[in-house]
Amino acid sequence: MPDLLHEARHRAGHNVASRRGAGSRREAKSKRGHVIAGLALPSAAAVVLVFCAGGAAVATTAKAQTSVFTQSAARGTSPHTDAKGVRLKRLEQSQAAARHTQTVEHNLAIVRAAAVARGVERKKLADVAKHEALGHSWRLPVTNPVLTSGFGYRWGQLHAGEDFAVSVGTPLPSMSTGTVIFGGAESGFGNLVEIRYWDGTISYYGHMSVVSVKVGEAVRPGQIVGQSGNTGHSTGPHLHLEIHPNGGPAVDPLPWLASHHIPA
Ligand SMILES: [Zn+2]
Repeated sequence: MPDLLHEARHRAGHNVASRRGAGSRREAKSKRGHVIAGLALPSAAAVVLVFCAGGAAVATTAKAQTSVFTQSAARGTSPHTDAKGVRLKRLEQSQAAARHTQTVEHNLAIVRAAAVARGVERKKLADVAKHEALGHSWRLPVTNPVLTSGFGYRWGQLHAGEDFAVSVGTPLPSMSTGTVIFGGAESGFGNLVEIRYWDGTISYYGHMSVVSVKVGEAVRPGQIVGQSGNTGHSTGPHLHLEIHPNGGPAVDPLPWLASHHIPA
């Protein structure tokens, strides 16, 4: 730049001197001043251009930024909001993942609870079934039974039951779940207990020494209802057992016991 200025000044001076002669130094000096100023302008302009170039570069950058901004604005975002958008998107993804995890855990909890409930229900049903099985179980009122007289006609009369020899005072249990429908003295039966069971069958325990239940009392399988004896028309201590299916006529107890898997 200084070289350019010097050359321009020198050339201008030379040109003026060659055109107007060596006599007019003052004028030439004055002209030179204008020329210098005139020549300085392009230099200044060059500087300005440099600045302009820089400015243009800046302007270009600004324009590019404006363009980007405009494009981003067209998408509803900006470089700044883009970053914010990414953060928001990540946050949303994170929240969605958390919600998914919560849903999965919730569903698992339901499945586990349902499994537990099924287990409880199964156990409950099993208990009910067991209780019902126990409640509907049958047993003989005497242990180690000794049969002394069977069902059938004797001297023209029907012996409507089975006699089991047992000593007086032997506890007599209920054969199954049922309700006492009679308990007390009944002519030839002596002290009698009648029980209607869950299936409608009615049993008679005759010749008892003690009756320990009342009419209407509910009994469980094996529950003691009294003691064996020798009351009524009896020739010795024994239990007279009658079985009346559905409350009807008495049947031979032994086949009935066998059909109910009761060893006798
Ligand atoms: Zn008898």
